[in-house]
Amino acid sequence: MSVFYGYAGKVLRVDLANKSFTSEDVKEGDARLYLGGAGLAARILYEELPKGIDPLSPGSKIIFATGPLTATLAPGSGSVNVCFKSPLTGIWGESRAGSDWGPTLKKAGYDLLIVEGKAEKPTYLVIDNGKVELRDAQELVGLTTSEKTKLLKKGLGKDYEIATIGPAGENKVLYSCIMFGDASRAAGRGGAGAILGSKNLLAIAVRGNGKIPIAHPEEFKLVCRELATNLLSYTPNLGLKTDGTTGDLPKCDEYGDWPTKNWHSNSWGKGAELYDKFRRNNLVGSHGCYKGCILQCGRIAKSDSEKWKTPVHEGSEYESISAFTAFIMNDDIDAAVHATYLCNELGMDTISSGAVIAFAMECYEKGILTKEDFEGLDLTWGNMESTVELLKKIAYRKGIGNILADGVMRASKTIGRGSEEFAVHVKGLEGAAHDPRSGKALSLTYGVSNIGMSHIHPIEGMAYDAYKVDFGLIPYGLKDPKEVDRFEEKGKGKASKILHDYGIVPEIVGLCKFYIYAGLTPDDLAKELSALTGWDIDGKELLKIGERIYNLERMFDIREGISRKDDELPQRVKNIPEFGKYASVPECAIKDYELMLEEYYEARGWDKNGIPTSEKLNELGLGWTLTEI
Ligand code: SF4
Repeated sequence: MSVFYGYAGKVLRVDLANKSFTSEDVKEGDARLYLGGAGLAARILYEELPKGIDPLSPGSKIIFATGPLTATLAPGSGSVNVCFKSPLTGIWGESRAGSDWGPTLKKAGYDLLIVEGKAEKPTYLVIDNGKVELRDAQELVGLTTSEKTKLLKKGLGKDYEIATIGPAGENKVLYSCIMFGDASRAAGRGGAGAILGSKNLLAIAVRGNGKIPIAHPEEFKLVCRELATNLLSYTPNLGLKTDGTTGDLPKCDEYGDWPTKNWHSNSWGKGAELYDKFRRNNLVGSHGCYKGCILQCGRIAKSDSEKWKTPVHEGSEYESISAFTAFIMNDDIDAAVHATYLCNELGMDTISSGAVIAFAMECYEKGILTKEDFEGLDLTWGNMESTVELLKKIAYRKGIGNILADGVMRASKTIGRGSEEFAVHVKGLEGAAHDPRSGKALSLTYGVSNIGMSHIHPIEGMAYDAYKVDFGLIPYGLKDPKEVDRFEEKGKGKASKILHDYGIVPEIVGLCKFYIYAGLTPDDLAKELSALTGWDIDGKELLKIGERIYNLERMFDIREGISRKDDELPQRVKNIPEFGKYASVPECAIKDYELMLEEYYEARGWDKNGIPTSEKLNELGLGWTLTEI
């Protein structure tokens, strides 16, 4: 068995068709080059998923990946990265979830879990400290995510951590998710839930009590303590516990960073009022998604409203609440809390769900789809009774829900009649609740992200040019954000290259991304990793590893046919907002996106078509990918 510091040292491979389990060594050479998490997963999936494979076919694979920091004292180290070929986009899919599930998998002896094949009948997987078993899941069929979780914990014991899909995943909704942490935390984006559904795998239960070997335990402890103290002594970080990300509603609205009415605008003017109502009526408390979190952004929420009665649960973070308020012009916060809870229970990505409802409402407003198409539902903007009914139709693929379950790109192709014009997505992934018109660096995050229109993969550009976060990257060539105009387009390509190289690092090392927003720099992480692994890693090497993985994921996409044409932004997202605070601010328009893209390609060492050059790939040790395209 190959064990080296910072790793459990093993990959568990589960073949559902043959009901077989194999334990493979993590190769130390691969770990040094790709570190872990999405890095090692990208290395494996690039090799093992043939070009063009149907993500929902039995031959498809999905990886649950931890990183070297996972299950250690390192602040923010309670993640799992779920990696796959996305059924929604047909390209690289990746989604991070917080909870104790990832750390428990690693303590059970596995850095990564690869699931392949298709079970004959509904099944769940149990991993108990290296003992692996597949069990009949008939009694779980059709249950919501929290019902499945409760039933499994009742049978197995409270010390198991559960990952599960809901009815949406069972019905292969293309943006269904996998829920972790007592069904409160989602690997939300890109349709990982549909992949488990297609494999008849309804849940994965893990229990683990092992320890991770540390190269320099005392030094590691000291570094972790010092970083935790620094994080907690920076006052704005304490706001994450008090207000969570939901507390960003007023600021994002104010900054024009709040996509409204299917991107007709970037502000609504109701952010402060909605957050105030949420804080007074819905917020119960804060919560850390895994045991060691010191920032605790999680929201415990409820609704006591007669109409939208919702039990105390964890959810209602910024993205989800925005998807069911500004996206669809709903100003009833109780209804929004209820809709986000329902999505978690059904197992659907809240961002894509809200975006799909917004698209459906615009189809309704324009007369492209009628009440008859919605089987009597009135899809007027902000109608939450209809929204909730439509979410159920989508989860169970009933009526029009069957079309909308495929996401806005495919739905608009099926519906036609000009609806493609307002189907807001990049590469098939619906946009998130941040708006690049008020911070132009975000336009490149959306345009070139390896998973589609994600704000957080690899990093939210707005944080840099609008909110002035430098991520400790100034010594590595990033222009000081204080000297940068958020509306300026020139220079954003160069800045985004550095931001993206660092933004992907948390997915590789097993870190919650909020911790780099909160102040963990490349130098901090390098110090932690060096003490943990015994390797001599510095900030420069860490950024190089980030660049390597970003390019490897890009090559995965290129093999699937992606190029410059797919890095375009939807026209509506480039237009001056039609109403709201920024309707008369011409600087909001994205005027020369092509120029930003070219600057980005050049900084990346990609050709004019957005393909990494052979020189760049060889420099990054990725020359082996050249034979594949
Ligand atoms: S900051 Fe939030 S997402 Fe990150 S580890 Fe803590 S609770 Fe989880």
